[in-house]
Amino acid sequence: MSRFWTDKIASLDPYVPGEQPQDKKYIKLNTNESPYSPSPKALEAMALEVSERLRLYPDPNCVTLKNALAKSYQLEANQVFVGNGSDEVLALAFMGYFAGGKPLAFADITYSFYKVYAGLYSIEPKLIPLNESFDIVPADYNNLDVSGVVITNPNAPTGKALPLVDIETILKANPDVVVLVDEAYVDFGAQSAVSLINQYPNLLVVQTLSKSRALAGIRVGYALGHPDLIEGLERLKNSFNSYPIDRVALAGATAAVLDEAYLKEICDKTIATREQSVKDLEALGFSIIPSATNFVFATHPDKDAEQIYLALKERGILVRFFGSNKARIGNYLRITIGTDDEMASLTAALKTL
Ligand SMILES: *Cc1c(COP(=O)(O)O)cnc(C)c1O
Repeated sequence: MSRFWTDKIASLDPYVPGEQPQDKKYIKLNTNESPYSPSPKALEAMALEVSERLRLYPDPNCVTLKNALAKSYQLEANQVFVGNGSDEVLALAFMGYFAGGKPLAFADITYSFYKVYAGLYSIEPKLIPLNESFDIVPADYNNLDVSGVVITNPNAPTGKALPLVDIETILKANPDVVVLVDEAYVDFGAQSAVSLINQYPNLLVVQTLSKSRALAGIRVGYALGHPDLIEGLERLKNSFNSYPIDRVALAGATAAVLDEAYLKEICDKTIATREQSVKDLEALGFSIIPSATNFVFATHPDKDAEQIYLALKERGILVRFFGSNKARIGNYLRITIGTDDEMASLTAALKTL
């Protein structure tokens, strides 16, 4: 607290990222990073950029990256916006499309940053509860008097995917507001809403290179949607920071997006490891929500999640525990899918507990 703080600063409730402790080397299964290296082509492009071009500003319009994304998703470049991580894209979308005075609809259990952005822009959250089995119920999104809707698909931290027909139902029920679909994990097994973009001018799909493309370290995310929605985001971005994507990130992201074979290779590996991990965890008595992501959401009927989290940490394995005070998910752990070896270490450690 400082006497120089405005009431706004004092009122904020900032996001708390998963811990990144530096005291020793952990097996990190707590922040949904990829256990694999990024595309070798991305590494090469970034090394070249570092050695030759850092004295120059990056391209403020990120044309090469937008072209690569447009090609990859069969869209036009003016249907693509890029930002410094999808978190920045979300922040701009909330500021631009949801701060109009009415509440913003999103699930009661979802990415916890949405509440933080809502607080930052004085948007009232309208929380729509997931049902008993942690599913989004599309009918609950009818007749809302809201500034917009955010759907995370697959959802986090549950890992559950929503079929495309249900996304379409929600889009049809909310034609006069932006429906933002956060697809941070879509490459691990859910249906993307990108195919609906040319039909629904109110659809904004947000994705990231941080999870499936193993590039959390360079901070690149993007939004795909109608050119008018994209232009709105560009106006906001250019009123705040012309160069949120640096040269190294631009070069690496462009090469990574074009290397679709590598994306498929590492996603397939993660999916295979996930299926094995589900079996191993179930054999230890855990109950696992069906996951379409690179993590599983797990609970044990007669073990305390916090105790497991602490005991694993002591053994050098980090998983995400959100707090026992969290309604409905207080006894759950979110476990990122690592390599086969890392997951075997996890299973071995859990056995000794
Ligand atoms: C990880 C994550 C993000 C943020 O990703 P960055 O691109 O690294 O900022 C956004 N949404 C969800 C649901 C996520 O899990």
